Amino acid sequence: MRNAIDHLGRLTELRDRDLLDLSLLQSIRDLVRPQAVTLYRADDAQPPGWRSRLQLKARPVAEQLGEEAPQVEFDGLPAIDDHPPRAHCLLRGERQRQAGPPAWTGFPMASGGRVVGVLELDTRYPLTREEAALVTGMLQVFGNFQALLDYSERDTLTGLLNRKSFDSAFFKLLADGQGADPGMEERRRGQGRAVHWLGVIDIDHFKQVNDRHGHLIGDEVLLLVAQLMNSSFRASDRLYRFGGEEFVVLLRGATEAEALQAFDRCRLAVQGHEMPQVGHITISAGVTQLRAGDTPSAAFERADRATYHAKNQGRNQVWSHEALVRAGRLQDNDKTGGVEIF
Ligand code: GH3
Ligand code: MG
Ligand code: MG
Repeated sequence: MRNAIDHLGRLTELRDRDLLDLSLLQSIRDLVRPQAVTLYRADDAQPPGWRSRLQLKARPVAEQLGEEAPQVEFDGLPAIDDHPPRAHCLLRGERQRQAGPPAWTGFPMASGGRVVGVLELDTRYPLTREEAALVTGMLQVFGNFQALLDYSERDTLTGLLNRKSFDSAFFKLLADGQGADPGMEERRRGQGRAVHWLGVIDIDHFKQVNDRHGHLIGDEVLLLVAQLMNSSFRASDRLYRFGGEEFVVLLRGATEAEALQAFDRCRLAVQGHEMPQVGHITISAGVTQLRAGDTPSAAFERADRATYHAKNQGRNQVWSHEALVRAGRLQDNDKTGGVEIF
């Protein structure tokens, strides 16, 4: 028990989500010693799919030093239906077991009153009652802690991320490099390089919505736009409300064409949606590719300049900063790395 409390103490010191998940798996591995412990996180779609997978395998004693931190996988995940007990665990929120051998146990991971994933253990023998209770207890504390973190990192109106965790997510994506995502290599062939992107989305003439219909209806529109964004982007992309009617998206591993397509899908979804009382509204967006040595403010500024161009050209458009520079319509004031001379 003392051991479990030590683990929880260390867990709750962390703020970074991926590290937090990894630390949970390490704790469970140390406490229960399974052959493998895996966390499947679900996305917010209806019906749900898997968003990510993180796995730790039992380690032979000789390899205990210098173990590499495993990567969270986003691509090539199985469909929900591929493993019915895992699907039941998520959809019913109940623990599932297969006696084996090897034995398999799936625990629902809940946070803020919702099942957000499945933690599963492969073990030589079925888990004892005590082991199962220990894992359930760890998951309960972990889920509560996660809900608290969510509350502090999310915008209360739209449920999107707020600015607070943006800088760290930006640097993490940048450090993740280009090519870390196995799906990226495939997409490189013939379609240009897959990299990471930052996009700014701004609602067109939003002031008029407020002026004509009042702030409450304006808020309703913000919420609907956030929902449309959620269904337009992939689960591995991160969506932020930066304040007012301005949104920022961090897009993982995509070619320029794919990034433009994703934002255009969002633009079309907004344009095609009938907003209660207000009718149809539009958005303008600008995207830019993340570069080595980039900073959040430099990348944001590039995307913002592309958005400004979209506004100037008549709104309801998506532009990439890089395409505008290539066409000679914007100048690239590169602010990465080097010294700036004014
Ligand atoms: P443009 O097409 O150039 O973007 O025009 P716009 O009217 O959208 O741009 P502007 O920046 O002039 O106006 C933004 C408006 O957003 C001003 C303010 O009334 C409104 N706004 C900002 N935050 C909120 C909010 O939280 N709720 C509501 N309802 N309105 C907000
Ligand atoms: Mg604005
Ligand atoms: Mg606006």
